[in-house]
Amino acid sequence: MYYDNKPDEVFSLLDSDKGGLSSASACERLSIYGRNRLSEKPARNPFLIFLDQFKSALVIILLIAAVISAAVGEIVDSAVIFAIVVLNSLLSLYLTLKAEKSIRSLKGMLSHKANVLRNNMSEIIDAELLVPGDIVLLESGSTVPADIYIFNSVNLHVDQSSLTGESVAVGKQSGVQNAETPVTERTNMVFMGTIITMGRATGIVTATGMQTEFGRIAGLAKSIDTGTTRLQLKLDILGRKLGIASVLIAFAIFVLGLFQDRELLSMFLVGVSLAVAVIPEGLPAVVTITLALGVRNMINRNCLIRNLSATETLGEISVICTDKTGTLTKNEMTVRSIYCGARFYTVTGEGYQPEGKILSEEAPADDAILNRLILTGMLCNNTDVFLQDGKYTAAGTPTEGALVTLGMKYGISSNERTRNRSFAKEIEFTSSRKRMTSIYLENGSYCLYCKGAPEQILACSALYASSDGLKELTPAVKVELEDVYYRMAGEGLRIIALGYRMIEDPNLSDNELEDALIFLGFTGISDPPRPEVREAVEKCRDAGIEVIMITGDSPVTARSIGREIGISTDNAVCGVEIDRMNDDELGEILKECRVFARVTPEHKFRIVKQLQMQGHVTAMTGDGVNDSPALKQSDVGIAMGIKGTDVAKDASDMILTDDNFASIVDGVEEGRRQYENIRRFTNFIISANFGEIITILLAMLMHMPVILFAVQILWINLATDSALALALGTDRSAPDSMKSPPRPHNTDILNRETVGFLLFMGLWIGGLTAGIFYFMLKAGLPEAEARSAAFIGLIIFEMIHMFNFREADVSVFRKSYLDNKSLNIAWLATFAAQLVIIYWQPAQDVFYTRPLSMNDWFFISLAGLSIILMAEIYRVLRNVLIK
Ligand code: ATP
Repeated sequence: MYYDNKPDEVFSLLDSDKGGLSSASACERLSIYGRNRLSEKPARNPFLIFLDQFKSALVIILLIAAVISAAVGEIVDSAVIFAIVVLNSLLSLYLTLKAEKSIRSLKGMLSHKANVLRNNMSEIIDAELLVPGDIVLLESGSTVPADIYIFNSVNLHVDQSSLTGESVAVGKQSGVQNAETPVTERTNMVFMGTIITMGRATGIVTATGMQTEFGRIAGLAKSIDTGTTRLQLKLDILGRKLGIASVLIAFAIFVLGLFQDRELLSMFLVGVSLAVAVIPEGLPAVVTITLALGVRNMINRNCLIRNLSATETLGEISVICTDKTGTLTKNEMTVRSIYCGARFYTVTGEGYQPEGKILSEEAPADDAILNRLILTGMLCNNTDVFLQDGKYTAAGTPTEGALVTLGMKYGISSNERTRNRSFAKEIEFTSSRKRMTSIYLENGSYCLYCKGAPEQILACSALYASSDGLKELTPAVKVELEDVYYRMAGEGLRIIALGYRMIEDPNLSDNELEDALIFLGFTGISDPPRPEVREAVEKCRDAGIEVIMITGDSPVTARSIGREIGISTDNAVCGVEIDRMNDDELGEILKECRVFARVTPEHKFRIVKQLQMQGHVTAMTGDGVNDSPALKQSDVGIAMGIKGTDVAKDASDMILTDDNFASIVDGVEEGRRQYENIRRFTNFIISANFGEIITILLAMLMHMPVILFAVQILWINLATDSALALALGTDRSAPDSMKSPPRPHNTDILNRETVGFLLFMGLWIGGLTAGIFYFMLKAGLPEAEARSAAFIGLIIFEMIHMFNFREADVSVFRKSYLDNKSLNIAWLATFAAQLVIIYWQPAQDVFYTRPLSMNDWFFISLAGLSIILMAEIYRVLRNVLIK
């Protein structure tokens, strides 16, 4: 259906017209057809996730041990172990569900947009809101948002590989198809999920969501890539190593207990509980939540993460390769000067507001060449400038918007494009060609208008327009014109050259058409740097991150902008020079050069690869269709949210919602913070667990009674590994996080330096706890009270020890302790839970606790203080030894 109908029939079948649906009709259809999306994988059943927690062999052993204790009459013990295991699993379930939920909500933010006509006005809407009958405008680089019948197109080419598997672009145009035509050969239809690689089109939506061809085949929506991140993988390996180590230690403790003739079941329970407690099984969920929460923070900093691993990699970035236009600069383009007919003109006015004058000291501004130049700028153009909410806006590209505004200032209305002429053909602009051509039929003959980078237009021109008529563009004239171009570009202006010619046959090849042009002149467009970029570049320098500008613009303009924002412009290199270099030479150049100009997307790819060969972790920005390979190759591919194509966005790991370079640097800072937080709580958990092992070992070696019962060990694990660790993950970044070089790629969470600290502090905490037990027993206090003091003491020590992981390199006397609200709440809640356990009678029975006296609290607090002091002593000693 539809493809074998004429456009008028399709309009009436879908009850729509060329002006689009009315808002009311669109709304009504949305309620009938539903949102334009593919069904998603159903969320995992929470009960299955809960059961998953019991898969661990150790937990099963622990449960068996609990059953045995019940059998021999230790009913309370057995029930508490059960309860704690269930509580732990519920906590894991909660964390897992929370992680999955945050990831699902992120997915909504990655939706595609669609350009539709509604109520006769063009508007950008969420592609999910499209309904059959909507009129959609499609441009090169966009993903087709639904199944669409094409009734108008210019040079349309579509990559249908998502449907057919073949990635050769196929041409599409309007025209009725035979009823037997197979789906993918229907040239008047474009299908959801396919990509416009070239040209543009207008069409009417025939099917949405699961009714589309793609919906029928694929069925399931692509979502944010949450596959295991490198960090999660590293932690997994670390967790496994720790797991093996703790099982061995627990076994050793069990055997030691047997040698010491301790009670078999009690030692078995202690051993297994210790193993369960020490294995950081909650770590993966805490990491996922930290990363997912981090993604939210990233959004506040205008970085939309498409791939959870990107957050981690961002923190390791050692070089950022960035586009210039729109990323380093504002992308607010205004024509400032014109050169044509051997004269310079100055243009006044700001932005797209068509108010301003074209002035020249030497000539009146109604020169015929100037007239033709400005007209060429308007006709070789796909952008509209119009008044919206009291402000002139450009719908299209800013460069072209500037040229339309110039025309309007000159008194040419934008309707000129259709008055007395009809559009015949376009050869579209691409970053590789750096020029664009439009052909119109005017009074029976074809006129070709071309604009582009000066090098391109000069190379295609045979004549030039002068006040004495058309003249041959000799090499000498070309040199003079290039001189003018460099002078204009030297002021930081973006230069567009313009030319035209009359042609007989618009069906010649592109090269034949864009040949023997009549050169008209240059326009100089200003695009000032974003004010915040200079500071961001400086921040990168402090953070040991190189910034490389890679632009399609001219080297002279690039240098001028580079100087303004503080990028070294000593060795600017051009794309043609890169072409002449082999990979080694390019690698050598990359050690020095920070500005690459007149590059094509292919150069970007080579540059990234070479940087990676040199061991750099790279971030690369991109917006065009052809930028995908470079974006995919770089460690963090960054697509522009505003001017980026769907193709670039789909190839990226992160989307910059404001296209701003400064946001990338914010993202890096956030990435560093998150990694640092994950490292903090991982180290905290490991150090605390190590303290527990030492406590039990020391008590046994000193032939004391059992210092901690199984239920107490399990409780400690629950108290410290959950709320505190999670809250530590929300910590702010250290003040100097952007003052040190990036951490080396793939560094281990546990390095030699941290292991030293963890062991040292673990020994100290274990020693203190065993010491309390020893001295209280020695002082003749009841064993139960001494054990309670050791139990609560150990928890309090770990809670205090947590502060040692905040701002690890800052002295304890200068550290801020109370500035993380969630940490304060988690800390107080954990502390309150301990009070309940020692002072509430039923809890006392379950956890074998006795109320602590003021004296006990005094000693525990004093010992607790020493934990902070020992960390400081370690820090000072380490600094002295390193120096
Ligand atoms: P960046 O790569 O930093 O974003 P850019 O936008 O200048 O820089 P391109 O879009 O590849 O890079 O443009 C390269 C050159 O092509 C520009 O310097 C300009 O001379 C010319 N150009 C840009 N846009 C157009 C256009 N719409 N039509 C014709 N020529 C254009």
